[in-house]
Amino acid sequence: MALKLEVLQVGGWKPFSLVDVVGKITFTVWACGCNLKCPFCHNWRQAEWQDCMGWEPLLFEKELKDAKEFVDMVHLTGGEPTLQPQLVKEIAEISKKHGVPFSLNTNCTTPAALKLVDLADHVATDIKVPFEELSGLPPSTAKTFWENYLKCVSKLARLGIPVELRVPVAKGLTVKHLDTIKEIVEKFEPDKVTLVINPLVTEPLTNPRDKDWCSKYCHKEGHLSEEEEPIWRDFAKSLGVKYKIKKWMD
Ligand code: SF4
Repeated sequence: MALKLEVLQVGGWKPFSLVDVVGKITFTVWACGCNLKCPFCHNWRQAEWQDCMGWEPLLFEKELKDAKEFVDMVHLTGGEPTLQPQLVKEIAEISKKHGVPFSLNTNCTTPAALKLVDLADHVATDIKVPFEELSGLPPSTAKTFWENYLKCVSKLARLGIPVELRVPVAKGLTVKHLDTIKEIVEKFEPDKVTLVINPLVTEPLTNPRDKDWCSKYCHKEGHLSEEEEPIWRDFAKSLGVKYKIKKWMD
């Protein structure tokens, strides 16, 4: 699954971000490439290796040095960063060299993710259910990737590092899979988890990969419906973990 690229590819970075990890100021880097085809993906151009540029570690290090006293962590997201293991290793190494915790956002479905999470001080990952529908993969591939995902989250639970578990909520669909979400959250010590309930949104708030899919399953209003919101709130409370229900618009 890991690719051999002449030059590692990123979409860019932002020295200060308040929106990528709940409650944290992050220095966020976007990796290019992804192995999934999530229909709601709003970063799909970078996920498909478009709008990318060559990785410049020296420039990144210089900008991190300037920003480090103001940020809580470096957050590497994507795309799926573990398609470029060398990029993950370099960013983890530079972050540690400057005393900044390293946070990895991974979809946890690649064999490389299982090893690379060892380098992270914090991991963010989605709980995409139903997986086949939300990953956009054919059934045979989806089955294998879901098995990889379950191995990866079990390992994260064993490592005991803080995690942000993000639930992309497809309207009327994800709510039917609360049992699966509960099983995954309960693998972790409750104090290690921040659960993020993330209603999927569509145009004009974002530019999803599959607009037809999103016209059916995404939240045009930018937030959960009045019917679904209390269900998700009660569910999140029942798990006994920190949680946030995202609103893109009130
Ligand atoms: S895993 Fe993330 S980056 Fe990859 S297609 Fe899905 S939403 Fe997009």
